[in-house]
Amino acid sequence: MSKAVAFEELAILERTYPHAATALEYRNPYELLVAVILSAQCTDVRVNLTTPALFERYPTVRQLAKANELDVQRLIKSCGFYRMKAKNIVRAARDISEKFGGEVPREREALESLAGVGRKTANVVMSVAFGEAAFAVDTHVFRVAHRLGLTLGKTPLQVEKDVTALLPREKWRHAHHWLILHGRRICKARAPLCGECPVNGICPTPKLVKSAKGRVRRGGAAAATLRPVRRV
Ligand code: SF4
Repeated sequence: MSKAVAFEELAILERTYPHAATALEYRNPYELLVAVILSAQCTDVRVNLTTPALFERYPTVRQLAKANELDVQRLIKSCGFYRMKAKNIVRAARDISEKFGGEVPREREALESLAGVGRKTANVVMSVAFGEAAFAVDTHVFRVAHRLGLTLGKTPLQVEKDVTALLPREKWRHAHHWLILHGRRICKARAPLCGECPVNGICPTPKLVKSAKGRVRRGGAAAATLRPVRRV
């Protein structure tokens, strides 16, 4: 795909979702960090239903650092993978208390040193909590970026590099939300609503699907790679 088309696709998404923001509810970097860790393999809606009780009981990093893991498990059970998530958020809180003076760090290296925090979570915290130039690649971003032809990257890191190369740094943190919202509302995993999509005229995927269907009808091979859906 030409860069001009890629720029145009991103410009359309920017115009379509000018106020896109995280759906996670939080009041400070501590709450955002915990919410993002809990959101792995879980919906934001479920996380938002879970965190009020958790933060009522543990309103600060230092209080969570001293928490009984079983009590935390009980509070976050509905988010799934609750044993591992409880362990991670308590350990992360301990590290923030002991190594970072009780403040969530804003630097990537420090964030990624915390339990349960990988590049994606660090990118979300950096961009959403601190307004840093960072672009997080989750399952929606990965899928939509491929369908739009913005990347052929096989890993989230490669997708991050390819998409950020198309945008000025000040737009990286916003582009993450454009792509997520587009993936949730229109470019859905199983059945993208191409007929309702504002990018339809220039997105390569509808044409690829059409031509693949033609090949299948003629007895050719199905284009199995047309929908690169991947959990990240
Ligand atoms: S045209 Fe279809 S595949 Fe392309 S971005 Fe829109 S919904 Fe997704």
